[in-house]
This record gives sequence, C-alpha cells and structure tokens, in this order.
Amino acid sequence: MTTTRTTAQWQAADAAHFLHPFTDFQGLAKKGARIITSADGIYLRDSDGHRILDAMSGLWCVNVGYGQQALVDAATRQLKELPFYNAFFQTATPPAIELAEMLAEVSPPQFQHVFFAGSGSEGNDTVVRMVRRYWDLLGQPERQVIISRHNAYHGSTMAGASLGGMSGMHAQGGLPIPGIVHIEQPYWWEHGRPKGLSRDEFGLVAARWLEDKILEIGADKVAAFIGEPIQGAGGVIIPPATYWPEVQRICDRYGVLLVSDEVICGFGRTGRWFGCETMGSRPDLMTFAKGVTSGYIPLGGVMVGERIARVLIEKGGEFNHGYTYSGHPVACAVALANLKLIREQRLVEHVHDDVGPHLAKAYEALRDHPLVGDAETCGLMGAILLVKDKARGTAFDEAVEIGMVCRGHCFREGLIMRAVGDRMIIAPPLVITRTQIDEMVVLIRRCLDLTLADAKAAGWLA
Ligand SMILES: *Cc1c(COP(=O)(O)O)cnc(C)c1O
Repeated sequence: MTTTRTTAQWQAADAAHFLHPFTDFQGLAKKGARIITSADGIYLRDSDGHRILDAMSGLWCVNVGYGQQALVDAATRQLKELPFYNAFFQTATPPAIELAEMLAEVSPPQFQHVFFAGSGSEGNDTVVRMVRRYWDLLGQPERQVIISRHNAYHGSTMAGASLGGMSGMHAQGGLPIPGIVHIEQPYWWEHGRPKGLSRDEFGLVAARWLEDKILEIGADKVAAFIGEPIQGAGGVIIPPATYWPEVQRICDRYGVLLVSDEVICGFGRTGRWFGCETMGSRPDLMTFAKGVTSGYIPLGGVMVGERIARVLIEKGGEFNHGYTYSGHPVACAVALANLKLIREQRLVEHVHDDVGPHLAKAYEALRDHPLVGDAETCGLMGAILLVKDKARGTAFDEAVEIGMVCRGHCFREGLIMRAVGDRMIIAPPLVITRTQIDEMVVLIRRCLDLTLADAKAAGWLA
C-alpha cells in the first residue's frame, strides 16, 4: 500500500472507480466495500483493524495460508532474474518446465502433460478447444457436445460461463454458447430426499441422468462430460459416494471424455492431491487454478491425460490456442514454491488424517442445532443447510434470505463464511490447526444462535 486513508476514503474511491466482479454496483456503492488490508495465517485484517477468521481461504485459493515467506521469496527471485518470457515461439523458461514436471508428479498417473493458462476460466476455455480438437483429429468431428450440470461453476469467460450451470449468468450475454448442454446436479436435498431415496441410491440415479442425456443426443455426438468433484460455488454439494464411480462407468461405456474441474478440489482440499482421487474417477483432463499458487499470483491450466496428449502430439500439427501468460515464469515459480511447501509440510496428509476428520466431528455436533437441517464435510470443505423446520426438513421462505442474515452475523463476529442460498459454506486454509477449527466452530455456532434469535423475533419460523 502506498498511501494510508480512512475506511470512508477508501470506500468513496472504490465506489467512484472500481467495478467489482459479481456485484450489484449501486448496492455496494451505497453500503461501502469492506477493505481488507493485510493477512497472516488464517486471519485477515480490515481497514478498521478488525481481525477476521477467513474460513473461505480468500476465494477457495489460499491453501497454504497467508504470509508464507517461501512464496514471496520465489516471486522476488524470479522477478529479478526473468520477470517474463513467453512460450509461444519454441521457447521455454526453467520455472515453467519444472512446474510441468512437478504437476505430472503429483497428479494421477494418466497425466504427464500440462497446458498453462492464466486462470480457471481460461483453463476451461482450453478444455473446450482441446476436446473438440481431439475428436477432430480422430476423424469424429461430429463429437462436439459437452455435457455439464445445472448449478455447476466453471468460470466466467464465454466458455467457462457456458459450461457452468448458473442461470443468472446464462441470462446475461446470450449463453450458453452452442454445443453445451446441462443435466441436473447430484443434490440429494433437491432431487433425492423428496423421492425418498437413500443418498447412495440417489447417487446412481443422478449419474444415470448423464447416460440418459448421452443416449438422447447420440453417443457419437458427445465429446465430453465436465464436473467439479464437489461443486464449490454451487454450495459445496458433496455427491453421494456412488455418483462418480457410476459417472466413470458411463463415460467409459460410451467413450466420452471425462473432465474433472479441480480448480477448488485440487491441491489437498479434499484430503488427497485431487478431488477425483477422493471421489473415485479417472479423468482425461483436469482443470486447475486457485490452490496451485495458493492465490498468491494468478495461474491456471489443464492437466492433459495421455489418451488426449498422444493424439495431440502425434497426429496434431499446430494447436492454434494459447495465452500470452501460458507458463508465466513468475507465476510458475510461485506455484513450484507452493507445491513444495504443501509437500514439505505434509498438508495433504494433515487434511486427510488430522484436521479433516476433526472438522467432520465438529460438524456432526452442529447437527443438533435447531436451524441445521444438514451439516456435512469432505476434507476441508463444509456446508450447513439452514432449515425452518428441522423435523420436516422444510426450507425457509426464499424472501427471508436466511443465508444472508447468517452471513451478516458472521461478518460482525469476525468470521468469513459464505452463503449460497440456504447453505452456509466454508473452505478454510489447509494449514488450519485443530485449535483454530474449534475457534471457528464456536464462531459458527454463535452466528447460528444469532440467526435463530432473528428468525424467532421476526416470525420466520412460523
Ligand atoms: C473459480 C473456479 C473457476 C474459475 O476460475 P477463475 O480463476 O476465476 O477463472 C472454474 N472452476 C471452478 C470449479 C472454480 O471454482
């Protein structure tokens, strides 16, 4: 920061010039943005000096926590040595090569190659280009359709937003682009519980919606299926254990490529290096971003399985696609330092064996709260479903915006927890300790109590 201003001054300048992503500009200008000025470990500091526990890792990305000197040093060193060079014209830089090598090492064995991008959205644009190119090269150019899911999030570029299943995004800008279709999401509360299905039964039913769609379109026209192992922005929708193995079986049966969008689930979030390993699928492509650098600097890309890589390499000729910042040396140097830190500090094991199970137990205990219809976790992702009537599992009136009420209390109590409809979600930094989880859960319970008191006072429970 080059200057110091009061919060009000920051907010005024912000409102005057800065159009925020996914924001009602006028609404924010009236209220004033929260100004975050520094951070350390799992805690943020705002411009009024408040300490806030960041249970969202920024935006699902700060896996190693804030203030890791090794990442700062890696960036500084690389900025001095070679701040930029491209990889277009038969050139490469050492950090990009080393990162490609290391990504192949930590990824499931079918992955030996990587295509770099600047973000998750760009990674998913690459996915669309690449799967269509793959089928072209195999002489099946009519295999064009990519199947995705409602309430998926795959980014905000034209292809990313099209792959995503957010109706609010499709409503703006003439999306989705042609050749992308959506099936229903594997959300038990929405589709399984009303029909009296067990979670595992529902997982199979939901996976077979993919098979129905493939048969409806014709397998010879379907290029790929894409999904997040666990939907993040959609509200931490953890599919039943039966879902992904059945999706894998269906993709295998019809020769459809499987794309795992690992932008959130990658790099330890679920207690394995990648979410597909936790969920039991064997993808042909994996999109990554966010946790690859712990958000310290932008970087994304696609891990390309050998099934696809061999075709692109051996039959391909030139692949007419790439970004100025594909393999940016500073971003790659930071990613390398980040992955080394995850490995040295055994953070994946820390999530799998220690804090993941601890969080699961704490969430189990939250289920007794009168507002909590469901509380579930996978690794260090967690969701609490707020319900009006616990016994019947009935939802609050949408107009109440119960999630936003709860989120307001979280802000005031010094906790960042995100609201997606009536689901309160978390994804704290992987470096969080058991003691810090306990501290976080005390805050969560307090916010639930305050929300319950509001609901009683306002008569929302009736
Ligand atoms: C955030 C996200 C993206 C988009 O990444 P950007 O870096 O914002 O472009 C894509 N997929 C998933 C699953 C995400 O959570």
